[in-house]
Amino acid sequence: MTVRRLLPILALALAARSPVAATSFVRVSDEALVDQAAAVVVARIESVDRRAGARSGGPVATEYAVRLERALKGTLGGPELRVRVPGGEGTNGRSLFVPGAPEFRPGERALLFLEPAGPAGDNTFRLLHLFLGAFHEAEAGGLRLAVRDLAAASELRVTPEGLAPVPSTSATPEGPRGFEAFARWIAARAAGKAAPGYLAPPVKFTLYSDAADGNHLRWFAFDAGGAVEWRALDAGQPGLAGGGYAEFQKALRAWSDEPATRIDYRYAGTTPATAGLARSDGINSVVFDDPNGFVTPFDCARGGVLAIGGPWYETETTSWRGEPWHRIVEGDVVVNNGLSCLFARAGNPSRLAEEILGHELGHTLGLGHACGDAVTPACASNALLDQALMRAFVHGDGRGARLEADDRAGLRKLYDQGPAPAAPARLAALALSPVEVSLTWKDRSADETGFRVEMRTLDGEFSDIGSVPANLKGALVEGLQPASSYVFRVRASRGGVLSEPSNEAAVVTPAVPAPCVADTWTLCLSGRYRVQATWKARDGRMGQAAVLPIPAADSGLFWFLEPDNAELLVKAHDGCAENGRRWIFIGPATNFQYLLTVTDTRTGKVRVYFNPLGGSPRAVTDDDAFGDCP
Ligand SMILES: [Zn+2]
Repeated sequence: MTVRRLLPILALALAARSPVAATSFVRVSDEALVDQAAAVVVARIESVDRRAGARSGGPVATEYAVRLERALKGTLGGPELRVRVPGGEGTNGRSLFVPGAPEFRPGERALLFLEPAGPAGDNTFRLLHLFLGAFHEAEAGGLRLAVRDLAAASELRVTPEGLAPVPSTSATPEGPRGFEAFARWIAARAAGKAAPGYLAPPVKFTLYSDAADGNHLRWFAFDAGGAVEWRALDAGQPGLAGGGYAEFQKALRAWSDEPATRIDYRYAGTTPATAGLARSDGINSVVFDDPNGFVTPFDCARGGVLAIGGPWYETETTSWRGEPWHRIVEGDVVVNNGLSCLFARAGNPSRLAEEILGHELGHTLGLGHACGDAVTPACASNALLDQALMRAFVHGDGRGARLEADDRAGLRKLYDQGPAPAAPARLAALALSPVEVSLTWKDRSADETGFRVEMRTLDGEFSDIGSVPANLKGALVEGLQPASSYVFRVRASRGGVLSEPSNEAAVVTPAVPAPCVADTWTLCLSGRYRVQATWKARDGRMGQAAVLPIPAADSGLFWFLEPDNAELLVKAHDGCAENGRRWIFIGPATNFQYLLTVTDTRTGKVRVYFNPLGGSPRAVTDDDAFGDCP
């Protein structure tokens, strides 16, 4: 089988940053806007008065006359509103320009978040959080959207290291809001009701594909519960205290911890191997400081590639869920040299390294970029894409290796296990010998790859004991204990995905016929019945029940904790004259769990009596215990 490498199309790079301009802001959530606003309205702008502030003797302000269409929140003092925005013409021949203050055109429709700006009842307002509270109606692609103008201001983000500017590549990284849907959502939230969603962004990851056939790449190792082991170059990463090993392990965990998939990337220690992406050496590894000169060195003055990562995969395809895929067989990440200056300047070098390594590991899983490269949209076009770990540019804002919605969507496409197959039905168990049980069931799934058999003792937990291939309708279980009780259930499996369990089927294995020999834990009744018991207390103590000797041939006693405290009375009764059967009576004087086994040593037939913890123990009259009457 030939194995070849996918050259990563684009590596992680640094985005240029814009200086913080005169107006800066930290984004306010839509929820907070609704909650803080005194009123939210859909309105039409009728006219503009740029001298309104000056005329009233107050601060320079522009006043818009606005006609109310619909109040989404709050009670207005009439349909004619005035909305004041800072800036405009002053009294002394000077005008004031306020960067970022919203401007409206007469005739346009808007969705406005308002707070009172005048005495109660005069219907004069200002915009809540200035431009953050002003949404214009805009047409795009046949849709009516609510958009606000963030371009004239610089966005800041609150990061663990303090305030950081948001890169200019995402100056207006807002998902589109449908105008009417957003209005409905606001009205519902203001009324305290559950609100339907209003964002309809195209969440769209990209996947690597083979240049020749266009098919995508994935690991198959996780499907059956396998893991992929990763190593890190023993020379370590310059510029990071500790050499980057802790950061790499965090980056591995970010992907493994994603609950919707079975991805299992594990750290397996260091390696001296430096091959990286230069050749496939069978080792999944991160190679620090690009020892092979794989890419042009990074330097902080000129920028450059930070790291590069990608999968090696089979040229032939393998079918998975009805589609051809290239099987990834190795992953490698090369961290560029010259990164020490970057880490030295980072507010949190560890988090920066985690993000870089996490991003490259995403490539080794088969993910391409979410946005920002030659084949994906500009990151500014969509807030969700812009947030992705797989964005082509490192965020570098202290977030570390953090998966976002778009990263998860891509992962699910590659590694989602799909719906579970249908559970088998009508499971039945039959003891064939003291050590063998035959199971039969009805196969109700069309797409299973096998069946998993689970077994427990009457007083135990289910555990997996093995599998049989697809389309079989039965299994033989061997190596069991004689004179023991077992419960079975079966699941259909497809890859690693298990169906719900079938019904449970219980069975008791017969004993090998042999005379009863009494001892500390074995009671012999009527010269033929071997009786043994185990017990378990609520506090977890457990043990084998001991015989409390009494001078009786057909009945006996067991004690659990102390010999002066009998817990179980067992009696054998020859009922052949009454109903043609031999009977067993049990008189419990205990609330412990017990499992009592009675074996007819002449025939090997076994009866098992189980009283679980917490069950109220009842006297047992088993008048159908054994046959073999004369
Ligand atoms: Zn990348």
